[in-house]
Amino acid sequence: MTTPQQGWDRADFRCGRCGEHIVATTEDEYVVKVIAHRTAHELLDASTPELRAKLLGLALSDVEAALK
Ligand SMILES: [Zn+2]
Repeated sequence: MTTPQQGWDRADFRCGRCGEHIVATTEDEYVVKVIAHRTAHELLDASTPELRAKLLGLALSDVEAALK
């Protein structure tokens, strides 16, 4: 069995929620990038304000540690 020819050489995805523009040159790349982006939105939606504050605090302490 041969791999079917891809009918395009570039795909664009514009996120309807944040306006992020994703460009992919293969179907695999497109699927991975778009799913990862949607998953990030879902995680943010599922998180509580407390969890978001905690994640932000962790991210900032990582940055501070990296600057020391
Ligand atoms: Zn988005």
